[in-house]
Formats: sequence, C-alpha cells, structure tokens
Amino acid sequence: MHIDMNAFFASVEQQSNPALRGKPVAVVGSQQRTIILAASYEARPFGIKTGMALHEARQRCPHLQMVRANNRLYTNVSQQMIRLFQDYTPQVEVFSVDEAFLDVTGSLGLYGSPTRIAYLIKTRLKAHLGLTCSVGIAPNKLLAKLASDMQKPDGLTLIDETEVPAILEELPVGELCGIGRKTVEKLKRLGITTCGSLGRAPLPLLKGHFGVVGEQLLLMGRGVDRRPVVSLDQEAEVKTVSHSMTLRQDVSEREALARFVLQLSEMVGRRARRYGVSGRTVTLVLRYADFTTFSRQQQQGEAIFRSDQIYKAVMNILDRLLLSQPIRLLGVRLSTLERREQQMPLLPEERRKEALAASLDLVNDRYGEFAVMPGNLLQLKGKGSHVISPAWRPEGIRNVGVQ
Ligand SMILES: [Mg+2]
Repeated sequence: MHIDMNAFFASVEQQSNPALRGKPVAVVGSQQRTIILAASYEARPFGIKTGMALHEARQRCPHLQMVRANNRLYTNVSQQMIRLFQDYTPQVEVFSVDEAFLDVTGSLGLYGSPTRIAYLIKTRLKAHLGLTCSVGIAPNKLLAKLASDMQKPDGLTLIDETEVPAILEELPVGELCGIGRKTVEKLKRLGITTCGSLGRAPLPLLKGHFGVVGEQLLLMGRGVDRRPVVSLDQEAEVKTVSHSMTLRQDVSEREALARFVLQLSEMVGRRARRYGVSGRTVTLVLRYADFTTFSRQQQQGEAIFRSDQIYKAVMNILDRLLLSQPIRLLGVRLSTLERREQQMPLLPEERRKEALAASLDLVNDRYGEFAVMPGNLLQLKGKGSHVISPAWRPEGIRNVGVQ
C-alpha cells in the first residue's frame, strides 16, 4: 500500500488555521519568499503551481492566501500519520514527509482486506488530522505508487495482479516512479513509449543502450518489483552499513583500486540514504592476495552520508597506505551511525537535488548492485580518464550486506 497525502503542506496549514479552509492557499518559503512551494486544491484551478513566482501567482489569483512554510509543523503532523499507519502494520516505510509504503500482507487476517485497511486509515486521517490522502494498493511498491497517483485527491485505487498487464499496456513509461525524463527520451528514440512495449522490448536492445539497467527497465515495464517495505524498526537496527567485494583478479594498480572504492562508496552511500542514517566513522577493509586481512578507519568531522563524501574519506585512507601485495578484497564501511534529521528541503533547487538522489538510489536499488551514479563522482578522479560506462560493474561481488 502506498499512501500519498494530498496537497500536504497546504492542507496542514488549512487545518491549523480554520480561516484558510476552503480558500486558495499557497505555502511560500520561509526565507526566500519568492516562489510557491505548495498550493491547496482550491488554488489549483487558478493555475497556481509549485515553483511559480509570487507575482505571477498574485496575478492569477488575487485573493490567494500566502502562508510561510512551517517545517516543524509538517514534520510533527507527519509523525502522527506514521503512528496511525503503524496501528495497522509494523511494516511502515517512510518514503517522504507525506508518503509512506505499508506492507499489509500480515494484517489481512485481522482486517479482512487491504481496501478495508485503506478505508480505516483514510477515515481516521480525516477525523483526527483533517487530512485526505490517495491510497494505492498493489502487489508491489512500484505498482502501489502508480496506483496512488491515479486518483487525486482522496483516492483509493486497487491494482489486482490480474489487471497489471492491461494497466501497463498503454501506460507512458514516464508514469513509473524511477523512470525519469532522460530515460523517457532515450526510450522514445528506441520507439518505446509505453510500459507494454518496454516489457516486450528485446533485452539486448535495452542492455545495449542502458547497460545493466536495461534488464531492470524491462522488468519495470512488466510491473515487476521485488523491493521489500523497509520499516522504521528495521532501519533502527542498522548499526553499520558496509559493502565489500572480492576482485576477480588481484589488483595492485591504485587507479583500478580507486574505481572499486568509488563503486563501493556509492553502494554504501546509497544504502545509508535508504536507511536514513549518516556515519562518523569510515573504514577501509583490505585483503591481500595471501589472505592477510586488515582495516584502517578514520573519524570524520561530521556524520556523512553522501557517496562523494564517503569516497573522499576512503581515498584519504587508501592514499596513505603502503601496499605490500596485490589486493584481493576491498570493503568500505560506514559506522558510528546516527539518524539523519528528517528535513524537508523547501527550496525547489534542493528538492530537485534530493529527488534526483532519490531517483538514482531507486534505480540502483532496483537494478542490482550497480547502475547509475552522479557525474560528479566520475569526475572526482581525474579528467575523464576514468569514465565508467553505465554497464560497468565490478566482477565477483560476494558480500553485500547491512549489519
Ligand atoms: Mg503528496
């Protein structure tokens, strides 16, 4: 089940100030008050949209009520929502301040059907918080997210397993969460515009253009998604985030090692972001060709979670090491973890960055152990001499884990 709150910021403002109810409301940034961050449903018929300049919004809707964003209030309401969801299943994954995934499989015995659970949740959200949401119910996260988008506001959409092929057949590929504008354009050039055609596309064609991502795109076109719902409890149990890989051949060249470090850093960073944690200790684990294994760690000035920060820290360790033998195994670990404050970036630019990172993470979570990384990571190491093709992945990943 995917639950997406409707016009969240604006609705919360309308709830906390009854004078705003039923009126066109726009939430504007707390510092940079030049653009619209969110608009209520009453404001939307006037064409008021996120990202619009204030003067334009005023022209379109002279009686628009402008409210300064109150991050703390939104976070607080968000936490109340999560607690409410947890009454129906412990498997609640917070996806953003106003979205969550619920695995209700284990609750069906108690409540009968997923639609009944959705109905109960919707009723309570309305009664206790005065908020409406759109709920999507489907066999997996990809399809549940798609379903919640189908009816707004106050929707409830169920995609039954048997309906999946029919629903996907004519659906534009860009409607799937995780397929961005660039991918849409690239697919279009291959003559693929619908999920149906994506699901039937020849695998070699997709692999040729998207590398390892190709196979996953194919699965997405067919509505296949095996990612589990990761609950808050499971996240809380995370003590360290680490990845290691056994190299197919022993490697002594530092540039080659740097490439593996880059990849491992991205994997660890991605996992850390997924679990909403950052860490103060970075550890590099090395195993020599003769199986001697050792590690070196370094404390960071601040808790880090970005892949480029992790990469920099690990390279810092590696650059100071004198290697007496070729390397057989490499590992990167992030520990002394702390929860990242849930901060909603309010500026569109920041949101875009976060959305991009989230999309990349989504792609990489889906597409096996390596698919996409930000260009700036590629450039970290010299002047284009280390371009890693999208299809590149290290051989022989043996141990990928979170403890
Ligand atoms: Mg929403």
